[in-house]
Amino acid sequence: MINRWIIFAVCMFVGGSLGWWTTAKEGLGLGMGIALGAFVWLLVDSLYMARLLNWLRTEQSNEPQEGLVSTLAVAPSLPGVLGEVADRTRRLLKNRDQQNLESQARLGEFLAALQASPSGVVLLDARGRIEWCNQVATQHFGFDAQRDVLQHIANLVREPAFKAYMAAGNFSRDVLIPGSFSTPARPVKLSVHAHSYGKNRKLLLSRDITAIELAEAMRRDFVANVSHEIRTPLTVLSGFIETLQTLPLKEAERGRYLALMAQQSKRMQTLVSDLLILSRLEGSPLPDANDWITTRALFAQCEQDAKALSVVIAPQGQQLEFEPGPACEIAGAQTELYSAMSNLITNAVRYTAERGLVKVSWTVLEDGRGKFQVKDTGPGIAPEHLPRLTERFYRIDRSRSRETGGTGLGLAIVKHVAQRHGVELQIESQPGLGSLFSLIFPATRVRRLQAS
Ligand code: ADP
Repeated sequence: MINRWIIFAVCMFVGGSLGWWTTAKEGLGLGMGIALGAFVWLLVDSLYMARLLNWLRTEQSNEPQEGLVSTLAVAPSLPGVLGEVADRTRRLLKNRDQQNLESQARLGEFLAALQASPSGVVLLDARGRIEWCNQVATQHFGFDAQRDVLQHIANLVREPAFKAYMAAGNFSRDVLIPGSFSTPARPVKLSVHAHSYGKNRKLLLSRDITAIELAEAMRRDFVANVSHEIRTPLTVLSGFIETLQTLPLKEAERGRYLALMAQQSKRMQTLVSDLLILSRLEGSPLPDANDWITTRALFAQCEQDAKALSVVIAPQGQQLEFEPGPACEIAGAQTELYSAMSNLITNAVRYTAERGLVKVSWTVLEDGRGKFQVKDTGPGIAPEHLPRLTERFYRIDRSRSRETGGTGLGLAIVKHVAQRHGVELQIESQPGLGSLFSLIFPATRVRRLQAS
């Protein structure tokens, strides 16, 4: 600042000296010279001021953007105080722009994090208009992330339950609404939860809960089915127990009742055992691919069981043919593989009439895959049932299933075992023409044994 005064004084001194000297040392010349020096100083200073002001105006109107730092670099070079003002201002502006850029980068990262969220995220302003939404939200609600910005949410999500939820303003719970792409054939269910923040703004979080709802429905069905399956034999058993307790029965009658009771308790045992197998299959780690079991051993075990069952199911006899094929080993869990194969064979025996044929075979295909097949001359299965056969408790002929000790879980077990071993389950059947169930083992799980 002191420099400024000095320059001003020098200007006046030089002006005064010049005036005094040119007018031959007259007092008037001195006064005019001083005034001229002051005027020149004022003029130059105003020019510098104007440059500074002009530069500041340009900078103020500049939006923070990349390259702004280079614009600032061309700040006018001014002498003295004005130069310092320009320099300090340039530094302040540079800091401001740096901060702006950092804030923008941080905002970009926040938005990217929200974009990566598996939930739909919608930010609403105080008037309920969409400020921003992520990609998941556009899919959930059918928004267009660009076009629908500043549109009122109520104009885009017209579901009455959602409107009532937003109007009530009680956001302690969520609201369930159909997704924008929901159709009767493929229903999509969304859970939407609003949260208030800032000055009357709202954050909407949406989750696709279709799979959860489906799993919950399946769990409910499963519990209902199990309860039903257990209740029936229990009712029969308690009826017989009451009869035995209250009525004086002859020995033969007693014996018959006890046999029927044994049959019902066997049915419950089989059901519980199948349920345990299924839950073990779901909960245990995948079978080791280095445990090898001989197909001949599996065949021998299955053949024995099939013959024992056939005697009970078809006292007049069935034709049981077992073709163990080439001696092989398959990799997997023995109990699981036995369970799957024996379930297929047991079904064939149970659903095939007296004197019918059940043929079980093992072959190795040219590409090294192994094929286990169970063919029967039973009633066959209509095509509409085929896709649902492996569902738990799905039965075509309930009475035939129950009469022959079925639980409705056999093919569900087969499907699970097959999936765990990378095995393909194929079912070919036509009503009246029997059925063919095949398990195709991948080549990596099959190896031939050297003929001894
Ligand atoms: P279930 O214990 O009732 O036999 P499964 O899961 O083993 O239960 O089979 C489901 C349904 O598939 C059976 O109820 C039956 O209607 C049908 N099914 C299975 N195997 C055969 C077969 N070999 N021939 C005809 N129908 C079959």
